[in-house]
Amino acid sequence: MKATNFALALLWTVAAPAFAQADMVSPDSISADALTAITGTLASDLFEGRAPGTPGEDKTIGYLIGRFQALGLEPGGVDGNWVQPVPLLHTQLGKPEALAVTVGGKTTDWNYPTDAYVSTLQPKDVARIDGAPMVFVGYGVDAPERDWNDFKGQDLKGKVAVFLVNDPDFAAQPGEPVAGKFKGRTMTYYGRWTYKFEEAARRGAVGALIVHETEAAGYGWNVIESPGGENYDIVRKPDDVTSLALQGWISGEAAQKLFADAGLDLARLRTQARSASFKPVPLDATMTARIPVTQEVVQSQNVLARISGTTRPDEVVMYGAHWDAYGKGAADENGKIYRAGANDDALGIAAMMEIARLMKADAPPARSVVFAAWSAEERGLLGSEAYANDPIYPFEKTVANLTIDILQTAGKAKDVILVGKGQGTLEDDLAKYAAGQGRTVTPESLPERGLFYRADHFSLAKRGVPVLLIMGISGASDLVVGGTEAGQAWVDAYTGKCYHQACDAVSADWDLAGAVQDISLMYDIGSDLAHSDRWPTWKDGSEFKKIRDQSAAARR
Ligand SMILES: [Zn+2]
Repeated sequence: MKATNFALALLWTVAAPAFAQADMVSPDSISADALTAITGTLASDLFEGRAPGTPGEDKTIGYLIGRFQALGLEPGGVDGNWVQPVPLLHTQLGKPEALAVTVGGKTTDWNYPTDAYVSTLQPKDVARIDGAPMVFVGYGVDAPERDWNDFKGQDLKGKVAVFLVNDPDFAAQPGEPVAGKFKGRTMTYYGRWTYKFEEAARRGAVGALIVHETEAAGYGWNVIESPGGENYDIVRKPDDVTSLALQGWISGEAAQKLFADAGLDLARLRTQARSASFKPVPLDATMTARIPVTQEVVQSQNVLARISGTTRPDEVVMYGAHWDAYGKGAADENGKIYRAGANDDALGIAAMMEIARLMKADAPPARSVVFAAWSAEERGLLGSEAYANDPIYPFEKTVANLTIDILQTAGKAKDVILVGKGQGTLEDDLAKYAAGQGRTVTPESLPERGLFYRADHFSLAKRGVPVLLIMGISGASDLVVGGTEAGQAWVDAYTGKCYHQACDAVSADWDLAGAVQDISLMYDIGSDLAHSDRWPTWKDGSEFKKIRDQSAAARR
């Protein structure tokens, strides 16, 4: 803990009677008033939009520590501290000095960012690729559990890999052998751009480019280029720095031209890539890039608090939410300059505080319960990734990660939305406790968007830890007042207007009765696990089952 954090923690412990009072409203159940009070504080201008590495972070960290202390929790971070350092690498590309492909002696300059959008996660002053051979790798999937490997031993070292977006079966016609092999329209991790960049780096490529298609990507080119050449990663050890000098996308048109120039038919290759017998196709083209990079290291922190287990303290049930938001930006039409993420995810932090308060008041659990407030989720799940890269509690004894990231604020619902149906047995726990509330479980409405891979629980899932996510925008709740129509209207209004914008603020219109239902479910599931010796598992067909199974002996 930094000295400033400690001073702020003391300040908040002393100066927070209003919140303690809110806690008293409902000592034995989740309190909507406490949720509103905590969310309102974190989303207030005092916290400056909670961007990592800013004075707003220092205040946030101090407040969180103060709250956890006031609840009587123990420090759960590194070496008995409340925090885990999260150094972040921030890169910004300048104007390219060169960005081109050469086919048959003829060089085509790519317009940045309209033909190709790239960024870098290497801590270097120039992102550079010198005439690297390009190889089309289809969907670029290595999925042993599905008997699928697009690489067929192709060496990618020092080369630029060109990928198709989404899963091999995304565009499959009914009756094609591949149809359904990757869960049909539901995206698997193999469909995410993050997977493709990771796979290219594992194979030593110097560049990775994904051919953009709006439908298969789920968004247009405007979304691709919106970061403006900026990127973030955790600071990695020299051996772990990515081999990719550049990673990104090429537009459909630029790809079409590149393949045509190389004498190849992209449409036909797309079809071939849907077959398990697909082999990588060298493009007979090379790529050259020389782009100046501005880089800096931003110091940030996760906050972790713990209730130690009585009989099996080394087994950990983990809750998670992210404390960061977008910080300061240009004023919106109401003159608001902070994008303070009241719902995303100050409300998730408040939910975790309420769960911690109830757990602390309850009989001590057999297993330890850890509450993780992650940094830099909005920069690419980086606080949780920093933890997962250097875990404080071993994964093999981490029972589950239960994450809350956005809650619906439109009142009580007859159902709860499940993200990632079929992944793990925690969905059965969700169904059981939902039934206890007289509610049902509804699968997320757009599984092709891959929301299951887009919140902090995923950093743990990748390492095999069973996970459960509540994300209020994952589908239309069947609201007690107004049904699914009203639920969809809420999702549309929030995602259309407020998501990641200054308008994500605490509002008098909020009705947290539905959020209280969902938080209570997460409390029940975590409390049950903390008092039992049960180990949730991944289901057959999950891409994360294999890694968990490898540590099965540790859980006997
Ligand atoms: Zn979020």
